[in-house]
Amino acid sequence: MVRDITHFIGGSPIPGTSGRWGEVFEPSTGAVQARVPLASGDEVRAAIANAEAAQPEWAATNPQKRARVLMRFLELIRDETDDLAALLSREHGKTLDDAKGDIQRGVEVIEFCVGAPHLLKGEYSTGVGTGIDVYSLRQPLGVVAGITPFNFPAMIPLWQMGPAIAAGNAFILKPSERDPSVPVRIAELFLEAGLPAGILNVVHGDKEAVDVLLTDERVRAIGFVGSTPIAEYIYTTANAHGKRAQCFGGAKNHLVVMPDADLDQAADALIGAGYGSAGERCMAISVAVPVGEETADALAAKLAERVAALKVGPSLEPGMDYGPLVNRAAVERVNDYIQQGVDAGAELLADGRGISVSGHEEGFYLGPTLFDRVTTDMSIYREEIFGPVLVIARAADYEEALRMASEHEFGNGVGIFTRDGDAARDFVARVNVGMVGVNVPIPVPIAYFTFGGWKRSGFGDLNQHGADAFRFYTKTKTVTSRWPAAGVREGASFVIPTMH
Ligand code: NAD
Repeated sequence: MVRDITHFIGGSPIPGTSGRWGEVFEPSTGAVQARVPLASGDEVRAAIANAEAAQPEWAATNPQKRARVLMRFLELIRDETDDLAALLSREHGKTLDDAKGDIQRGVEVIEFCVGAPHLLKGEYSTGVGTGIDVYSLRQPLGVVAGITPFNFPAMIPLWQMGPAIAAGNAFILKPSERDPSVPVRIAELFLEAGLPAGILNVVHGDKEAVDVLLTDERVRAIGFVGSTPIAEYIYTTANAHGKRAQCFGGAKNHLVVMPDADLDQAADALIGAGYGSAGERCMAISVAVPVGEETADALAAKLAERVAALKVGPSLEPGMDYGPLVNRAAVERVNDYIQQGVDAGAELLADGRGISVSGHEEGFYLGPTLFDRVTTDMSIYREEIFGPVLVIARAADYEEALRMASEHEFGNGVGIFTRDGDAARDFVARVNVGMVGVNVPIPVPIAYFTFGGWKRSGFGDLNQHGADAFRFYTKTKTVTSRWPAAGVREGASFVIPTMH
């Protein structure tokens, strides 16, 4: 008998009643380890009602008291990081150390949100007219919801729920149905930390559950992270129903390697950023762009040598560079892309298809794959593969490399490796991508900056975490007030007030 995962609504575990279930695998063995309930519309509406009832009292709690709940949560999650990382690794398939990183990057945003009282302060101008003051307030939206992907089951839910809750909202999370256990445990820890029941609910499900969140008028904002077609669907549907939405999608991150770069450093960076977490990261580097044939030949040789030494195996076994993919369908999708690359004439330097891990023959493994001489018309260049596949797309010169990254339909992250400050500054200024690394392969901004891609990697105008998150999860009220001195009577005015 496999374990049944529950929803978490109103501060309690709630068994699913829809009769629809999803399978949660252990990617390292290929076995089904749990069943996740897929919520019906009525179950989602029950969560919304619960959140709506709890939210006003939470919003009326002073912001410093709300922040103290986050402080207590930080202590609890720190004590439990090892167990949580093991749970995460077992459902997702990333290595234990990488799972700890997933939790830690989320924790850092909660640490930032402890400063919510400061971030929620409004503005004040005195004496803008005779006896007139103007001030602004930031007020929570009410009930807000987040829909998150499988590849960061701790970090991304924490990025959304931290600012939403700290700002005084009630939050409903619809996590990925592929690795749903960590988000439920996080919600339990928040309850233990003192968060009132109903302020953080976790409802599992698929499109049926999501569509209720997108259309129910009680939900005022939607945060989404996942693939681009779904991001676009969520953005347009939420907007059409009068909601705020910030929706982050897929990626194809380039790393430009200039002829003057330290090629060993660049090769190490590409290996870690290309194959870490089996390439299942929105900030993975999936395209290496060496500038000039000499750089390309040298870099390709260094990459091929390193790829041959990578260790792929069970996620909880120490010493592995990366573990399995999330499910069998992901392995099949990536295999199909590799064949498309071969058919299109790209040069296959390392073929990861069909590897077998001894004792774990049914696990969802794929060896590291490396292509050279990939051109911009090939599907393995244009589309997000989301697996351990790195392609080398050679550029004749710097301008061509810059153009490739800038003209790609995705614009999440990009990097340049060089020793030339002028080239780096020019690249930073001109590249049409949202997050840039200079001699840094995965430029995920720290918690107090914001995270967001451009072009078809992001829909909406405010980024995740940093100050943007507090703008997204609050609405601004602006007050113009006058306390006239006794006896002043001006009579009715029919002209718009001006500062003439
Ligand atoms: P996904 O789009 O399949 O799923 C994301 C979420 O949407 C899940 O909760 C899922 O249940 C839900 N969903 C799926 N289909 C839906 C539908 N038809 N209607 C409504 N909801 C639906 O993405 P994934 O496979 O879980 O995650 C990988 C993708 O996420 C990659 O494309 C990756 O680049 C992207 N990603 C982007 C970022 C970023 O910040 N830009 C971060 C992490 C992951």
